[in-house]
Parts: sequence; structure tokens; C-alpha cells
Amino acid sequence: MTTTTRTNNTAYTEKAQERCANRDILPVKIGVLFLCVLVFAIALRSIAQVPTVRFIDVNGKTVAEVQAHYQNKRVYLPVDAVKQVIDPAATHQYNHPRQRLTLKTKDRQIRLQMRRPTVSIDPGGQTVTLSTPPIIVAQQPMLPIAFFTELLPILNDVEVIYNSSLNRLQIRPKDTLIPVETNGTQDLIIIVDPGHGGTDDRGCAGSTGVLEKDIVLALAKQLQWTSKQHGIQVHLTRETDTEKTHFERIQVAKQSRGQLFLSLHCNASFSPYHKGIRIYVNNPKGQLRFTSTIKPALTGQRLKILAQADYLKQSKDLAYALQTELNFLTETPIQIIDLPLIALSDAYMPAVILELGYLSNVEDLERLSNSEYTASVAQAITRALQRYISSINQNTLPTVSEQ
Ligand SMILES: [Zn+2]
Repeated sequence: MTTTTRTNNTAYTEKAQERCANRDILPVKIGVLFLCVLVFAIALRSIAQVPTVRFIDVNGKTVAEVQAHYQNKRVYLPVDAVKQVIDPAATHQYNHPRQRLTLKTKDRQIRLQMRRPTVSIDPGGQTVTLSTPPIIVAQQPMLPIAFFTELLPILNDVEVIYNSSLNRLQIRPKDTLIPVETNGTQDLIIIVDPGHGGTDDRGCAGSTGVLEKDIVLALAKQLQWTSKQHGIQVHLTRETDTEKTHFERIQVAKQSRGQLFLSLHCNASFSPYHKGIRIYVNNPKGQLRFTSTIKPALTGQRLKILAQADYLKQSKDLAYALQTELNFLTETPIQIIDLPLIALSDAYMPAVILELGYLSNVEDLERLSNSEYTASVAQAITRALQRYISSINQNTLPTVSEQ
């Protein structure tokens, strides 16, 4: 009895151990199965995911998404893309034996020879050399991105911008942005304020040792240079790695007769996942609420602050312009955050703070350390400034007559 019990007990223990072992193995099996399913799903998704190029209009809206072909890290599009995004009435003929493509669009004939960079345009007999020639894929002619970025501005009065990391192509009419010189706004002085500076105020730092004060200064200089090419005057609140108080920055803005204040910063977060550009608008209404409690002593000051409320619309206009232009560079839509910016409380002009990205995020840090990316940011900000200036030009007359 005792023996059987013992045997039974042993058997029970063994079974229990086996069950225990099974229980240990079971999650592993489920885990492996889950992993297999996941790998399969990812593989299936990457097979199903056809690379595309997204065409974007001047307002940042998607016009078309065209299937693309990749070859030697270059992107090519079918000839139909021309019909889809540029001219629905365009026609084309492809001579297979001669590998010659003739494209007819808007009374013009464009002749391309496959694998050759030279393009001829008739009437006029103009020739253009593309940086990448067209190719043949599955017996069909394919156009390089260079066809759109290099040839379209010559054919039509457009500007074409390509974002190679996101595969976005923006075609915008040249005259949407009124040239600065012709509208008497060449005197509109924009103050760009690179945040922080000096040894004691370095701003935030990236894991690579990159400092906010250096990123924003380099970008501010790049922006000043790019803007100058477009006739926009940009003054910097600091040109070197020096410490400046908020008061000194505002003083520079006032002395330079600035009419717009754009402060450049970078973000940092405890979470490595926080990333992306943020735009902060100076909303003086918050300050107005605050100052109303001490209004008896601040009549003159209050008047100034009331006048500052007029800048809210302009600050927002600039923020929207920045959002539209910078969205082209990012995967996630850029947020505009509306709040009273104490740092800019004395800047009696429209004011916006642009946070270029999180130095605590690996992707943002990598992007902001890449001069090609920062150059495209400087160009996008310049386009935003152009957009803002042209909106002022359009609004100038009615505002003056109202007053
Ligand atoms: Zn900062």
C-alpha cells in the first residue's frame, strides 16, 4: 500500500513535472508560432507593398500616388505619370526598335532616347541634358525623377521639389509666390533667432555630442543665405556662439526694425520615442488674461499688449505657412501649439518658435546632423517666408482701407 502509494506518488510527481515542462514549453511554442506568423506577415507586406511616388500640390495636398520602379537606387516612373499629374491631354508614342519616346504635351514635342540623357524639345529645337537618363523596364519606357525635377521647370512655369527619403514630388506654379522685389516688401525684415549660445547655455544635447546651440546657429545661417537668394532680408539675433539674454535678442529685433520673429530651437524628451517638428505660436491672449489682474498699474503696457493681439493672426499665418512647407519633409503631420510665449512677450511683432526635432530621438538626431536635410529645412522655411510675405501683399490693400 505504502509502496503503491509511493509509486503512484512518484508517477504523479513525474506526470506533474512533465506537465510543468509542457507548460514551460507551451509558451515557447506559441512564441515561435507567433514569430513565424509575424515574419510571414512582414514578408507578405513587403512583397505586397509597391514603391510609390506621391505627387503633392502647392498646398501640400496629395494629387496622385504613382507606382514607381527602383533600379540602382534610382526611382523611375511610367510615362502615364505625365498624364496623371501634369497634362491629362498628353499623348505619347514609343518606338520599340529605336527605343525612342515622343511625348506630346501642351503644343510641344519632347523626344527622349532610352539610356541617353539628352532630351530635345520642339518647336525650338532646345536640348536639355538630364542627370539620369530614361530606361526600359519590361519593354516599356520609364522616366527618371530627373525628368520631373529638371525638365518640367523648363517646359512649364513651375518649380519642382523632390523629397528623396519620403519619395514625394511637389509641383508648384512659380507665380503662386509673388516675387518679393515687385511688391515693395523687400524692406520686410525677418528676425531669425538661433536659441541658446555660449558655454553656459548650450541648450539640449544629442547622444553623439551634438548641441542644440550649434544646430540652430548653423541652420539660421543657412536660412539667411537661402532667403537672401530669394530677396528676403534675414537678420540674426546672434551670428556666433555667444550667450544672449531674451532682452538682448528682442533688442536686436527692434534695432534691426524686424517685422517678424522666428526663434529656432531643438527639443529633448525623456522618452526616446518623442520626435518631429513642433511649431509654437505666440498667443498674447494668454498674457492679456494674466496682465488683466494687474491692469491698474499697467495702462500703457496693457495698450501695448492689446496691440500685440493683432499679431496673433500674422503669427498663425506664418505658423501655417511653416506647417505646409515643412510637412513635405516629414512623415507625421506637424503640430502647431498655441500658447503665450513669455520669452517673446516683448517682441512687438508676429512671433513663432520652431522646434526642429528631438535630439533625444535617434532618427531626429540623425536627420538634424545631416547637412542635406538641414539645407532642405532652410529651403522649406524660405518658401514659408515667401508664402507669408505674399499673403501680406494680398492682404495689404483691404487692411489699409479698413483702417
Ligand atoms: Zn532650446
